[in-house]
Amino acid sequence: MNQIKVMKFGGTSVGKPERMRQVSQLITADPSTPTIVVLSALSGTTNALVEIGNAIATGQREKAKELIEKLEAHYQTFISDLVKTAPSLAKAKAIVAEHFEFLTIILRISFSEALSKDILAQGELLSTKLFSVFLEENGIGHSLLPALEFMTIDAHDEPQINSIKTKLTQLLQQHKDKNLFITQGYICRNARGEVDNLKRGGSDYTASLIAAAINASVCEIWTDIDGMHNNDPRVVKKTVAIEQLSFEEAAELAYFGAKILHPASIWPAQFYKVPVRLLNTMQPDAKGTLITEAAGSEGVKAIAAKDGIVAINIRSSRMLLAYGFLRKIFEIFEKYRTPIDMITTSEVAVSLTIESIAELKAIVRELEPFGTIEVEENHTIVSIVGNEIAHTPDVLSKLFSALIPVPIRMVSYGGSKHNVSLLIPSAHKTETLQLLNKGLFGLE
Ligand code: ADP
Ligand code: ASP
Ligand code: MG
Repeated sequence: MNQIKVMKFGGTSVGKPERMRQVSQLITADPSTPTIVVLSALSGTTNALVEIGNAIATGQREKAKELIEKLEAHYQTFISDLVKTAPSLAKAKAIVAEHFEFLTIILRISFSEALSKDILAQGELLSTKLFSVFLEENGIGHSLLPALEFMTIDAHDEPQINSIKTKLTQLLQQHKDKNLFITQGYICRNARGEVDNLKRGGSDYTASLIAAAINASVCEIWTDIDGMHNNDPRVVKKTVAIEQLSFEEAAELAYFGAKILHPASIWPAQFYKVPVRLLNTMQPDAKGTLITEAAGSEGVKAIAAKDGIVAINIRSSRMLLAYGFLRKIFEIFEKYRTPIDMITTSEVAVSLTIESIAELKAIVRELEPFGTIEVEENHTIVSIVGNEIAHTPDVLSKLFSALIPVPIRMVSYGGSKHNVSLLIPSAHKTETLQLLNKGLFGLE
């Protein structure tokens, strides 16, 4: 058997019946290569499911019911356009009925965290099952691989790559006669055996984990843009696609906010050396971005921004010449399982940033005995990423001269050879990304 290829299609790529048709063409273009196709939910569905979950959680059952009905109507229209024959329509209707019945039943049960994960899982279950009906109607042989049977996370929410590999290989063995497999992105089972997920945007992570587990020839991420751009296209007008990135560069961009990739989605492919390609479903001939081990050219490649950052400043005269101080501080963050993104220190103060505020109050309470604590919310980390950027001569001077009007709160330089990060108030994000686009790329 040839090496397997993984193709992941995001929400917009399956969000309309004609897009699903296009996807069916893309996945059958090379029938001799065994392919695992990972699908997201139709665009808008996961957001709608989040809203439904929130409405139930806050006791707004009538609102939840309305939202469920609205979403179901959307699926009815979708399937009536997707399939042509009466038997296929009957199958599609049965699938929609099954999943919306489930949501309606949930309305009557008392709410729990586990139940909210069940709600969120309906999107990917629906998209893959409906796509399967469409493929069947068009005589395209395939098997559905239920992600809930092989995609698992441990008690710390970390994917269990060895177990994924064993279970997935077993499943593939059971369908030896097939060359095309469809599975759900995003959803998984947790250590308690409950339905869970890989966090928002997690279908990229699913694809990379599968590609790593089966040692795929390539992991293709098909989306609505022609690859990784040099800057956030939602914020800056003129951006350009990057043809090549190293795993390190891509991982930093994903981690620091380039929405095109889930923050954790690069490491599995990187660790197992599977090249990743970012491609555009709407423009399949565009080159896209190839991500491999190769370092490629040096210098600045792209800028990403991550919002919702909280800066914590700890000022203490006791820090002066003390050792063990940082360990004690870090232990508090470890205790509350809260990752630190950036850190700067001086003799008398430490500034660090966190993204998750779930445990902020508890953390601050435990930090208080160490000195004066200041918390500043609404910050953004802007990361400038590029191979050997720390050794590229004029990057820092260009960076700081471009950003004269911006009040920079923290700078992180040298921690990674591929990244310079700045902390700024979120109100200055658009301005910062625009100024850097001009200052570093000459693009306006
Ligand atoms: P999908 O639903 O296919 O997973 P996403 O919406 O998650 O797609 O990711 C694609 C989007 O990411 C693009 O439409 C674009 O707006 C956004 N994006 C943010 N930063 C970048 C970047 N640097 N390069 C490309 N796209 C980016
Ligand atoms: N459907 C999920 C989300 O919207 C996962 C994904 O699209 O990657 O977050
Ligand atoms: Mg995405």
